Amino acid sequence: MSFDQLGLGPDILKAVADAGYTVPTPIQMQAIPIVLQGRDVLGCAQTGTGKTASFTLPMIEALSKGRARARMPRSLVLTPTRELATQISQNFATYGKYHKLTMALLIGGVSTDEQQRKLGRGVDVLIATPGRLLDLFERGSLLLNDVKFLVIDEADRMLDMGFIPDVEKIVNLLPKIRQTTMFSATMLPEIRRLASKFLLSPVEVAVSVPASTAETVDEYLVEVSSRDKNKALRTLLQNEQVENALIFCNRKKDVDLLSRSLRRHKFDSACLHGDMAQSAREETLASFKCGTIKLLVATDVAGRGLDIRGLSHVFNFDVPLHAEDYVHRIGRTGRAGKAGCTFMIATPADKKYVLAITELIGHTISHRAAENVQRTSPNELIETVAKTPPLRKQFEKSASKRGNTGREAEKTEHNKLHREKQKIVASIPDRKPAETAKNSIKSTTSQKNKTTTAGWGDHIPAFIQLRSHISN
Ligand code: AMP
Repeated sequence: MSFDQLGLGPDILKAVADAGYTVPTPIQMQAIPIVLQGRDVLGCAQTGTGKTASFTLPMIEALSKGRARARMPRSLVLTPTRELATQISQNFATYGKYHKLTMALLIGGVSTDEQQRKLGRGVDVLIATPGRLLDLFERGSLLLNDVKFLVIDEADRMLDMGFIPDVEKIVNLLPKIRQTTMFSATMLPEIRRLASKFLLSPVEVAVSVPASTAETVDEYLVEVSSRDKNKALRTLLQNEQVENALIFCNRKKDVDLLSRSLRRHKFDSACLHGDMAQSAREETLASFKCGTIKLLVATDVAGRGLDIRGLSHVFNFDVPLHAEDYVHRIGRTGRAGKAGCTFMIATPADKKYVLAITELIGHTISHRAAENVQRTSPNELIETVAKTPPLRKQFEKSASKRGNTGREAEKTEHNKLHREKQKIVASIPDRKPAETAKNSIKSTTSQKNKTTTAGWGDHIPAFIQLRSHISN
């Protein structure tokens, strides 16, 4: 299928061709004709699938007729983060270059003067984060009763960030008769509840199973003790062919600490987190995008929606506490069909989060030993599993089903999985990243020129095995 079969007008088709797109992505093929029909859409799509164009293109088409009145935007796009909002506005500018649509970006961290001036002149497209939008609404800078198109992007992230009460408040201020599109990378029950509240008989479109990771991304887990984390990261950065990388930490203060430590070791790194002034965030991001900075250490503020072309690596320096964040973080690489590589550095204390992640993504993550990194001893990990009642219980339950208990069952299970893994590895002579099947145990032995598998790569730790067994 080509773009001109989707029902878009010649000006948009020209802008799309200028952007270098030749064929629509699956989410664009599905969503664009439905949005153009005026139907509500509930989209389940991970970032990097082209979902932004799937709502911006038909919106530009629909908004090309008519004019905005002062302080009364005709459409509203709600997004959880400033970065995502900025990126969506860039998309509107790219695809709407042959239209005369006006646009305003309402995000926190910058002065409201220019935002208010734009609203006063009238805007066709308003892209906003919920807090700043409500702030300006309460000051009387805008009215929402002319909004005919609403987009709620990254709804699951809104949920995580506690924005849903604000979103509900905003939706209540909008006209009942409108067209709504809502996107989420995951379709958790709470997202479905919100969809039934905000959307009217929506058509559901999905391009991948909920919470899946892109098949173009090679995922690896490196297990070390907590004191070896920094060293493990540095070793990976040295040994891997890292062109540019996002490195995620869970806390802002750790972002600063890690970035400083990397700079001390002569790595070219910068920080990105929510406590930085908006201008500093934008400057850093721009330097990273254009390649002046090679490594960007960030919190999850960078985990959603950021479109950094050709990002070669994502490192989870900290295992994310919410499993969905793993999907978003690693979704920064392997975008638009390109290959990407991710490493998650885990300590024994992270086991329950790793378990939650593998449960969410539906497949195990290959183990890699960072060369020269002192790895956690198998006994240390087994001890931790033993000390954690829910895991221990889960393990014993699964083991007793097969008439085994404790370490003996653990060992049997290790051996069984090891044999299965070897069989799979032997049957795949030269696996390419894109061929990686979900639910398979990935091979690292076929990855030429990369660190060879050692330690945990052959010895699948108890908590991962447990997951494999339970999910079977
Ligand atoms: P998104 O999921 O909207 O963040 O888009 C991810 C990336 O895919 C962005 O760099 C887009 O510019 C790019 N993209 C969107 N649509 C297409 C397309 N039809 N062909 C090629 N690249 C695209």
